[in-house]
Amino acid sequence: MTTYRSLVAGEWIGGQPSPHLNPSDLDDVVGHSALADAAVAEAAVEAAVQAQNVWQAFPVAERIAILDRIGSQILQRTEELATLLSREEGKLLAEARGEVARAGQTFRYHAHELLQPQGERYLSTRPGVEAEVRHRPLGAVGIITPWNYPIAIPAWKIAPALAHGNTVVFKPAELVPALAGELSSIIHDSGIPPGVFNMVLGPGPVVGETLLTSVRLHGISFTGSAATGRHVARQCLEHGNKRFQLELGGKNPLIVMDDADLDVAARCALDGAFFSTGQRCTASSRLIVHERVHDAFVDRIVSGAEALRVGPALAPDSQIGPVVDAVQLERNLDYVRIGCEEGAELAAGGARVDEAGNGWFMRPTVFTGVRNDMRIAQEEIFGPVTAVISAENLDEAIALANDTSFGLSAGIVTTSLRHATEFKRRVRAGVISVNLPTAGTELHLPFGGMRGSNHGPREAGRYARDFYTQPVTCYTAW
Ligand code: NAD
Repeated sequence: MTTYRSLVAGEWIGGQPSPHLNPSDLDDVVGHSALADAAVAEAAVEAAVQAQNVWQAFPVAERIAILDRIGSQILQRTEELATLLSREEGKLLAEARGEVARAGQTFRYHAHELLQPQGERYLSTRPGVEAEVRHRPLGAVGIITPWNYPIAIPAWKIAPALAHGNTVVFKPAELVPALAGELSSIIHDSGIPPGVFNMVLGPGPVVGETLLTSVRLHGISFTGSAATGRHVARQCLEHGNKRFQLELGGKNPLIVMDDADLDVAARCALDGAFFSTGQRCTASSRLIVHERVHDAFVDRIVSGAEALRVGPALAPDSQIGPVVDAVQLERNLDYVRIGCEEGAELAAGGARVDEAGNGWFMRPTVFTGVRNDMRIAQEEIFGPVTAVISAENLDEAIALANDTSFGLSAGIVTTSLRHATEFKRRVRAGVISVNLPTAGTELHLPFGGMRGSNHGPREAGRYARDFYTQPVTCYTAW
């Protein structure tokens, strides 16, 4: 059985072993995680700081070759890594394959992004002076990630960080050490100089906190919950005024208009609300439905939810895998109780599925008769639970969509160009979809939210550079 360890200055470091279990089958121990302490995290920070000058000056062609090798290695090992991802996090194998492939492509994308124009030249208003803006690496950065995309999210942070000449201390989520360990070993074997990339396994309040309070790091890129994100922001400002980037939760609306193709609407809603067991920051957790098609849409989504096969992530006929662990399952069931107490109607699901196997399975859950001020419509649940809210017209639907502290992703299903255009103009979200699930993204396009879902520059594509570099304005006289 593999014990996953931390990587510091090119060396693998042990720690207190802790088993992690397959959420589809609690008899299956996926591996052990050797939990590091604060001293290991500090050593990782020191290694990243020491390696910074070497990496910044590393020949660009070699940097590209290293990133390209990492991407190719991930892609070559897609099947093996996807199977591990399914066992560790509970994503269905098809979804896991997609995630691993996305991670590999992300490294290759950022390798080649380096060949795009970097920096800008301006005319100076002073005679005999040349003006330019150079983009310099931010420095040594901490990367803190959640469990729900255990290889894709690390990749979309680590790849641009390394590409633009930064060194990295990566702190993965506690629930997914295997994917973090495999990714780190691929990066380690790529020929990257020791200390440029470091990874530390361990609890957020110990390992993560060491990164947040370090004044040696220059920035923190964080993806996770809004509550932890607020703490990250406070600590970064307090400790060295570090740059920080937060990608947080969502309470994403999908509007279904009375002119919608209801088959398209049901497909978008079922995918957006329930695939990946609803454990996506972009999940459609609020379905805002025009009152004229409300009942017909509810019939479709309720029968669609009831027909979904819940089962082990590696079983070929499963359509919804397990919840990631007991804590998340309890949280989901708590919200079911809260929804019922608030007066919403439980139209589908709401309970565990014991017959699906020895794991944390839950039936896809639909609430109807939901008011937007209920907790189940305002708080992120992060499970297979969605809330149907009725609206009179597009204006009311958009007002309801915007009445949230979040602003990550939003969608509309409509056949009207006017409705789609109005929606794109007025809905407050960083990612907008028309006639598509709220949860689809592409690696070369910017990703991120507004308001309570985000702080700082966008991730992904060429926008990723904005966090990992700092513009320096240079004036030169001859
Ligand atoms: P979380 O906030 O509990 O943990 C995220 C990371 O922070 C983990 O690595 C954790 O160990 C670490 N952490 C916890 N306490 C810390 C501390 N005191 N100091 C430093 N680090 C600490 O989130 P989670 O449960 O792992 O992930 C689910 C959340 O992530 C959901 O809210 C989801 O919406 C969000 N998410 C957002 C995006 C996005 O791009 N917007 C993508 C995926 C997930």
